[in-house]
Amino acid sequence: MRMRVAIIGAGMAGLACAERLRAGGHAVAVFDKGRGPGGRMATRRLDTPLGQVTCDLGAQYFTVRDPDFTARVAHWATTGVVARWPAAGDDAWVGTPAMNAPVRAMAEAGDVRFATRIDAIARDGDGWTLHAGDAVHGGFDAVVVAVPAEQVPALVERWVPAFADRARATPSLPCWTVLAVFDETLAIGDVVKRAGIIDFAARGGAKPGHGGPEAWAIHATADWSTAHLEDEPAAVQAAVLDALGGVAGGALPTPVATGAHRWRYARSGQVGCDALWDGAAGLGVCGDWLSGPRVESAWLSGHRLAEVMG
Ligand SMILES: Cc1cc2nc3c(=O)[nH]c(=O)nc-3n(C[C@H](O)[C@H](O)[C@H](O)COP(=O)(O)OP(=O)(O)OC[C@H]3O[C@@H](n4cnc5c(N)ncnc54)[C@H](O)[C@@H]3O)c2cc1C
Repeated sequence: MRMRVAIIGAGMAGLACAERLRAGGHAVAVFDKGRGPGGRMATRRLDTPLGQVTCDLGAQYFTVRDPDFTARVAHWATTGVVARWPAAGDDAWVGTPAMNAPVRAMAEAGDVRFATRIDAIARDGDGWTLHAGDAVHGGFDAVVVAVPAEQVPALVERWVPAFADRARATPSLPCWTVLAVFDETLAIGDVVKRAGIIDFAARGGAKPGHGGPEAWAIHATADWSTAHLEDEPAAVQAAVLDALGGVAGGALPTPVATGAHRWRYARSGQVGCDALWDGAAGLGVCGDWLSGPRVESAWLSGHRLAEVMG
């Protein structure tokens, strides 16, 4: 049966689900509260005296191991939206020209409505409706919730309480990310892994297809981010850049532009299954938090949910 499916969340999981459902002949509409594609693979543009610089704000690279995901990534590579990045590892890939490129390509292939935060879902004799402020989007046979675990219960609790319980039992860890653009090259390799309060840092321009001036994205460790979650962004920037200076062997030059982003739900836990589907209710859940905190897990979760839905 051809279904009309609403998907909440246009990150890697939701869009992988949408892509597979469309391939199966279903009609799919995706809703996302964000202004553009990416989710936790988002990019941010910084205005600097050197011009506008695009920085990867969330995941800096992703790994590829599963055969189905390997095939999907190989296809993305032929269309130029991903490339290998050996600096991060033998099985590491990045989006090109920015990390959100594969998600953007998937979003452009379908019906995706951005700037639409879904507050609630409801079911009656005519199927599912989605409520976004005063707007109502109706006429769906099934709903897929593809958002971080912490945001799942509010949407599904009333309809399938067991899904809400699974999500509540799978908390995510936060991450402070600092962006910094310099007008000179820092004396550091292209990546920094596990150095003091730095979990991972990457020289953006060193990634294939990225280019631009000397720009760094620096993720603080989960422990440090948890302890400093409510700190002012300026204090976070100072601490994280100080740590990067330590790696560089001294004080850093003054950045020409900086930014900070607090990911409250950066890296998920893990339920241990690919996806959740209640066929009688017509309600499914996918996302990285079901099978592990990685881009690959998010894709697999969405893809496998669509296979189960038929
Ligand atoms: C700092 C950081 C570093 C990371 N590093 C790596 C790494 O090195 N390698 C790796 O593989 N992975 C990494 N990850 C994890 C990876 O980014 C995620 O696993 C993956 O992108 C999750 O995809 P998703 O679709 O499950 O969720 P998301 O990308 O979070 O997508 C969920 C979407 O739902 C939307 N949404 C939420 N609530 C609503 C609502 N009520 N209505 C409408 N829309 C809604 C959001 O706007 C978002 O776009 C990192 C993540 C972060 C944040």
